[in-house]
Amino acid sequence: MKSFESGSKLKHEIINDKNLIKERQGFVCYNSKGDNSKIRCDADSVSGSVSQRACVYCGARVVLNPIADAFHIVHGPIGCASYTWDIRGSLSSGPETYRNSFSTDIRENDVIFGGEKKLAAAIDEIVEKFSPKVIFVYSTCIVGVIGDDVEAVCKQAEIKHSIRVISVKSPGFAGNKSMGYKAACNALIELMEDNNGEEIDGVNFLGDFNLAGEMWIIQDYLKQMGINVVAKITGDGRCEEIKNAPKAKFNIVQCAGSMTYLAKNMESLYRIPYIKVSFFGVEDTKLSLMMIAEATGNKNIVRRAEELIEKMEKELGNKLDFYREKLKGKKAAIYVGGGFKAISLIKQFKDLGMETVMVGTQTGKEDDYEVIRNISDEGTIILDDSNPYELEKFIKEKEADILVGGVKERPLAYKLGVGFCDHNHERKIPLCGFQGALNFAKEIHLTVNSPIWDML
Ligand code: SF4
Repeated sequence: MKSFESGSKLKHEIINDKNLIKERQGFVCYNSKGDNSKIRCDADSVSGSVSQRACVYCGARVVLNPIADAFHIVHGPIGCASYTWDIRGSLSSGPETYRNSFSTDIRENDVIFGGEKKLAAAIDEIVEKFSPKVIFVYSTCIVGVIGDDVEAVCKQAEIKHSIRVISVKSPGFAGNKSMGYKAACNALIELMEDNNGEEIDGVNFLGDFNLAGEMWIIQDYLKQMGINVVAKITGDGRCEEIKNAPKAKFNIVQCAGSMTYLAKNMESLYRIPYIKVSFFGVEDTKLSLMMIAEATGNKNIVRRAEELIEKMEKELGNKLDFYREKLKGKKAAIYVGGGFKAISLIKQFKDLGMETVMVGTQTGKEDDYEVIRNISDEGTIILDDSNPYELEKFIKEKEADILVGGVKERPLAYKLGVGFCDHNHERKIPLCGFQGALNFAKEIHLTVNSPIWDML
């Protein structure tokens, strides 16, 4: 892998670009199979770089907010509470408590005299009005600065009201978005109850947030295979399920970036093994279903998984061929949250005959980038924790036809006059499993081949 410093023809061009930040060198490279140097990643954002990453608090919020029957109090200024269900949506099959946003609305006076009393009063008010069973209390930047003892307030509230009030240690400045994932995972562990040696015949599904019904698609596949889901963590999640999660036989981890930490902790605390999966794209869906089936050690389930795959492939037929024909030779740029999604997307584009010319993540790990390097083509731009300038530069340089990303990347793509596919919270059509693969191909085709691009 070549970094900016590695003497390629392009090095000169990039280094001489006065708008690229020197300290970002090493976080961006051209894939070069013959070079074994590693990309820099899993680090705090470079000062001065307008990172596309959200803060620690936001990282924690996106993981916990899909728990549909929990109450979420943002202890901080009202602006932090703007990370609500409305912009970080996920679907629930039942309660909709999580669509409310509660904030302590910290102001100047509280900064001077402390916000603990205000927080305690907010918890009391929610208990009085809504009789909650579980409240998550998120710390934000200012709470970290003034030093409120949020943990103590939560503990006192638990005793006072006999409910769970869990402190989420997520001051925005305390690190990067990955720290927020860890804070959320620690809060989930706090919610879980000891299994006391009991076991439930089933698995936990970690790291799908049910943005457009994906959790239900996978749950249905597992049901057809004869596998029960003990806890959905956290898409369409329920507090009681999560309390029982330590009783499951094993964990299935989809969003490895946010949930590997939880899976590892559950392995050491409760001796629950885990496997990493991805349900994006036909190839990864098939592989994941078989991995899950084999992990049960039950031949009957393996057989049912094979039958399910056969049935789904039959249903899919040659429908993807239409899109392969339309998309052959088109170029894709990817900038998503975690490595697992980026890896699956590269495979999906390859399957559609498209070339991935740029791929990056906000929170990818060294292992993820190793896989990305192996499966992407020579010369593909690989970048970690990028900023709008870099994304713009490489999308233009590589003449991408479409950018796949999240809400913050959408305006960038539109300004550049290239297509955009939301693979995050704003989407309404699921992209996972067999049907999702078809939805994805259709959306990419309709976007990339839209007549609008000829009119700009
Ligand atoms: S926690 Fe800090 S960085 Fe995050 S939204 Fe609030 S003020 Fe901004």
